Amino acid sequence: MHAKKRLAVFGSTGSIGTQALDVVRSHPGIFEVAILTAQTNDELLLQQALEFKPALVVIGDESKYAKLKSALASTTITVASGEAALEDAAALDSYDVMLAAIVGFAGLKPTLKAVENGKMIALANKETLVVAGDVVMQKAFENKSPILPVDSEHSAIFQCLVGEARNPIEKIILTASGGPFLGKKPNFLVNVKRDHALQHPNWTMGAKITIDSATLMNKGLEMIEAKWLFNLQPSQVEVVIHPQSIVHSLVQFADGSIKAQMGLPDMKLPIQYALGFPNRLKNDFPRFNFRNYPNLTFEEPDYKTFRNLALATEALEQGGNMPCILNAANEIAVWAFLKNRIGFLDITAVVEKTMQKINFIAKPTLEEYFDSDGEARNFAASMMKL
Ligand code: NDP
Repeated sequence: MHAKKRLAVFGSTGSIGTQALDVVRSHPGIFEVAILTAQTNDELLLQQALEFKPALVVIGDESKYAKLKSALASTTITVASGEAALEDAAALDSYDVMLAAIVGFAGLKPTLKAVENGKMIALANKETLVVAGDVVMQKAFENKSPILPVDSEHSAIFQCLVGEARNPIEKIILTASGGPFLGKKPNFLVNVKRDHALQHPNWTMGAKITIDSATLMNKGLEMIEAKWLFNLQPSQVEVVIHPQSIVHSLVQFADGSIKAQMGLPDMKLPIQYALGFPNRLKNDFPRFNFRNYPNLTFEEPDYKTFRNLALATEALEQGGNMPCILNAANEIAVWAFLKNRIGFLDITAVVEKTMQKINFIAKPTLEEYFDSDGEARNFAASMMKL
């Protein structure tokens, strides 16, 4: 056993990755960094490598390899590049905990490798469970690989469940801020542009999840993520709009009692909880003060306007490869929206048509999940003439 927890931060240059490194910086006696990975941002990766001195850095984009390698030539840090190198890194023994903070489907393969490697996973990449939740959870069980949630809602539920191992869950309630367009109707949403959708009221996050939060697809993905993490039936997962983002989610038990976890909206807290688990590490993050929040409000989501939430609920209920199809179409449509190629409401239309078009498989193999992802991406892209 090592004196410090050795972290492999996959997606270290992103919103979650950089905040995780802030946590590491504040607790040098507890954590050390063994592996850092990024896709294209070689400059930030270099800076992080020089500061945290991991044994290995991986840059996904192979065209950035030579520059990074030469910049680190005077150090002992190994530099690798490419998609396969990410999986090879996940298969190493030189770390204890993987922070899975790559965005989208791309996070699935390295996370699966870490699971097969029996590593503890601090999971931010919800798409991993949305795409292939049954395969991932089965492999995690077989390899005794604990999966700890980083998503703030799932961290809240996880925290509520500490000490409740013998008490079945009646239902969970995921809170949603409602995003920047809460209360708006389709006649407004049809004109929404990228820059407006990127302004989230409570959270600062990567571009993809920020758009998902504006369309409420993020909450839909979280429902599916929760099903797998906490072994729930679709009917046990509920969503409530809570614009203040103070109650991070709730669990209702068999006696009707509800536990909630609360705090200011700051991702560093759930990141630190997952990395430090089972310990709560002291920090100086700003504290919640009820005087600043005289009203905590809760309301029903508007499924008619934010139809992504209805589509995700449908995918959750259908199961099989439907969440994988939903996710693939959504990734492509969000990418197109971010490039100003389609409108805000088109995202939902693309997801819905793709769900109707791609063959449903009730019990897919891992290969079939990959195939469904590819087919859904191709169909969604062709629909948008990308
Ligand atoms: P960002 O876009 O900010 O960061 C993504 C990270 O993944 C970057 O390091 C990026 O590298 C890397 N990356 C991007 N594409 C690839 C690829 N194809 N292969 C390998 N690496 C890649 O995302 P976030 O940090 O916002 O989100 C990460 C994950 O965490 C998502 O799944 C999101 O849903 C989840 N999450 C995020 C929250 C948040 O507050 N941000 C909250 C809860 C969950 P590079 O910088 O070089 O492009």
